[in-house]
Amino acid sequence: MPLIDQQGRTHDYLRISVTDRCNLRCLYCMGEEGIEQVAHHDILTYEEIATVVRAGAELGISKIRLTGGEPLVRKNLGDLIVLIKSVEEIKDLALTTNGILLTGQAAELKKAGLDRVNISLDSLNPKVYRRTTRCGELNEVMAGIETALQLDLKPVKINTVLLKGINETEVLDFIKLTLDRPLHVRFIEYMPIGDHDRQYREHYLPLSYVEETAAQAGLPLTPTPLPGGAGPAEAYTVKGGKGTVGLIHPISRHFCDRCNRLRLTAEGNLKACLYCQDEYSVKGAINDRDALKALIVKVLSGKPSEHQMVADGSCGSVEPGAMRTMSKTGG
Ligand code: SAM
Ligand code: SF4
Repeated sequence: MPLIDQQGRTHDYLRISVTDRCNLRCLYCMGEEGIEQVAHHDILTYEEIATVVRAGAELGISKIRLTGGEPLVRKNLGDLIVLIKSVEEIKDLALTTNGILLTGQAAELKKAGLDRVNISLDSLNPKVYRRTTRCGELNEVMAGIETALQLDLKPVKINTVLLKGINETEVLDFIKLTLDRPLHVRFIEYMPIGDHDRQYREHYLPLSYVEETAAQAGLPLTPTPLPGGAGPAEAYTVKGGKGTVGLIHPISRHFCDRCNRLRLTAEGNLKACLYCQDEYSVKGAINDRDALKALIVKVLSGKPSEHQMVADGSCGSVEPGAMRTMSKTGG
């Protein structure tokens, strides 16, 4: 029985946050300090997560992404990967990471069955990288990217949030990363999630800026099929490039009509949409497969047709500060 919502969208993709903790403090995602954390005993165990995956798989989930917080700060992530890969229906298992700890863990994760990685990187300049992450070392992420390429965790995608006044001068440098290596750089629009109102208005920039900058520099972007299948990105190539440039516009050209994803937070709440305020805990249903499946269907039935986040930072009927940050929902 496929998971089809009231808008006729088929859902085959579950994004799982394995932790709300992180080793960075990106300025658009987490506050600098005083962050409330989910207590360790409230975080789903790997076996509980796998139970949710098995129930979802019976309903048509075939793609999983592990995210966070920073998934690589949770111990023994390979154990979860092994459990998920043992579910026959799961055909694609990906990881979104800031890449800081990837070099040390990638081989083990690959061996456990990880198919591919997305690595978040907002600047190629060590100082700017440190500013956006508040504490990150660029060379560690770059080493992580090299390791992912060497281990063929492909397609290796780079997630870059475009930030006015911070990294827009680096757009061409990021595009050039796709020329010589099979790297897939995806520019993402900053979303007004979390309590960052003034900062959002200061740093939001629509992705039309990327297209214009590329064209002006004589590197026009040509549409191309998406690497690794469907997703929210529009993919392009630069002539002769080995990788692709993706544009993900959740604000200026949203893709809600194509949304195929559900989310599971680290403490075990199912959510139909980042924007959606409704959350349903799987904990009461974790020992009953039918109840768990019914809960997944219920979550989907309440999915809004689209989010209401717009470029001025407002979010329809939802207070922007009331929305869980990406680190808490799982980005
Ligand atoms: N820690 C991992 C990482 O950074 O890749 C995984 C979790 S992070 C929340 C997932 C993605 O969400 C990252 O690519 C990050 O840049 C993105 N993100 C976080 N807050 C965002 C926001 N307000 N707008 C757009 N993207 C955001
Ligand atoms: Fe951490 Fe990822 Fe959020 Fe940055 S974007 S603070 S790395 S969870």
